[in-house]
Amino acid sequence: MSLVVVGSIAFDAVRTPFGARERMLGGSAVHFSLASSFFTDVRVVGPVGDDFGEAEHEVLAQRGIRTDDIEHVAGGKTFFWRGHYDYDLNVAHTDDTQLNVFGDFQPKLSGESRASESVFLANIQPDLQLEVREQCSAASLVGLDSMNLWIETARDSLARAIGAVDLVLMNDAELRMLTEQPQLLRAARAVMAMGPRMVVAKQGEYGAALFTEDSFFALPGYPLEDVVDPTGAGDSFAGGFLGYLDAIGPDAIDDQALRRAMTYGSVMASFNVEQFGTERVQRLTHGEINRRFEEFKSITHLEAVPLELRVFG
Ligand code: AMP
Repeated sequence: MSLVVVGSIAFDAVRTPFGARERMLGGSAVHFSLASSFFTDVRVVGPVGDDFGEAEHEVLAQRGIRTDDIEHVAGGKTFFWRGHYDYDLNVAHTDDTQLNVFGDFQPKLSGESRASESVFLANIQPDLQLEVREQCSAASLVGLDSMNLWIETARDSLARAIGAVDLVLMNDAELRMLTEQPQLLRAARAVMAMGPRMVVAKQGEYGAALFTEDSFFALPGYPLEDVVDPTGAGDSFAGGFLGYLDAIGPDAIDDQALRRAMTYGSVMASFNVEQFGTERVQRLTHGEINRRFEEFKSITHLEAVPLELRVFG
């Protein structure tokens, strides 16, 4: 199976209470592809500028990620994001966003990318997400992430993109903002009414919740003592989740598989936040992933609670 991702390929400047980096490799597509590369074949779609060099390519290539659909825009500058976190590491404060080469990017996917079974439309301008989704007509599982910036500035485009996917993975606060529903269950239902059959609400260190038409499943975050930089945690979660589902194939996706996918998502996010940027995931091993997954197993094998029995909503 194979998985294609479009999203930002970036340089990030990040400050947290535990330190700072002025320029590190980042971007939603980068964090997603690194995490998902532990599970399946991954291709990245997106533009970069002259400042994106061999060293950055190598980070992806070393994990076997296919970079043929990364377009080098001569004379251009790579997407740049500056942000900081205060002691509540669940809230990212954006200080600067420079779209640069994404400003007039027209995605042109190779035949191999268009033939991918799974697609992730990572956080980027929603019209670009939709263009990629439309080119991947063979895909049977398409997920999407977004953020407050696009809810505020491109709401109609975002609604069209959401209408074309199977799965939405977003922060719970952004789901509430998108749907104008303070109750998370109602927000998830409102998203499903737009088209998707699954919604994952990411809740930072508190974990994540999965909603389908007839089931609900929540998982706490992996309890970590040292969180250094949460940037990319959401994309790493999505990478573990979709990477695992792509690896097992569409026919094997059932309730149990979705619980495992949630668990792999949490495991990948937990590694991501232990160091700045991609530093931790770059040197991660399958053994470390498997050990953390085993620790989580007892939680993930809880019985499903049918929504008719819920005591909320
Ligand atoms: P997250 O997983 O939500 O922490 O995503 C972090 C990544 O999102 C960073 O590496 C940024 O480069 C990227 N990012 C921040 N703002 C935007 C934006 N407006 N569009 C696309 N990517 C962004």
